[in-house]
Amino acid sequence: MTTLFISDLHLCPSRPEINQIFFRFLSGPARNAEALYILGDLFEYWAGDDDLTDPFNQQVCTALRALSGSGEHGVPLFFMAGNRDFLIGEAFAKAAGLTLLPDPTLINLAGKPTLLMHGDTLCTDDASYQHFRQQVRTLEWQATFLAQPLSARKAQIEAMRRESEVQKSIKAMEIMDVNAEAVAEALRAHGYARLIHGHTHRAAHHTLTVDGRQCERWVLSDWYENGSYLACDENDCRSMVVT
Ligand code: MN
Repeated sequence: MTTLFISDLHLCPSRPEINQIFFRFLSGPARNAEALYILGDLFEYWAGDDDLTDPFNQQVCTALRALSGSGEHGVPLFFMAGNRDFLIGEAFAKAAGLTLLPDPTLINLAGKPTLLMHGDTLCTDDASYQHFRQQVRTLEWQATFLAQPLSARKAQIEAMRRESEVQKSIKAMEIMDVNAEAVAEALRAHGYARLIHGHTHRAAHHTLTVDGRQCERWVLSDWYENGSYLACDENDCRSMVVT
């Protein structure tokens, strides 16, 4: 049996081709999976679970729920928040039929310890982002933010996204990739497990040595050019494109 991993789909109504690929993925290859792990940034952004009434969000939830809830053949779905959709909460999880996971989460994948992360916490060279992240992940910040009307939150997120685009264009490329020591530290803290993460949009299979131990790091692909997923079984992992 094969376990599937996806991340960085950045779903939004304005990219209908990718949305169709996603729905095709859910009703196609995902149906035969042992489990599906979504490692963050499923959505371009998430303003709060009260946005579940939005027709597009509803469509995504319905498709996920159809995969997870189809009787004894249901596929267990797991979701780890990304930097775009960290406001996803229990109401979304219930509507989509998935289980929320903390970042990081260590799983046993066909006998092999595997560490799952979104990946943004590994980008420690980006000090201003890490500062921002620390702030917005506090319960206080989230309570204050979510207390605003949905329309005000969306406007604020749009403004933050515009600012982030500006920042991204002036930050050095290396700053926005993972920091080697942060990767080593995560592997060391979790028994030198295999690491799977997304976020950087630099799909790759890295092999590295940490403290004399051979380790591997899989970086998931984003869903801009096409849709792709990592398929892992007891032998290996391989990157697959949704056809
Ligand atoms: Mn991300």
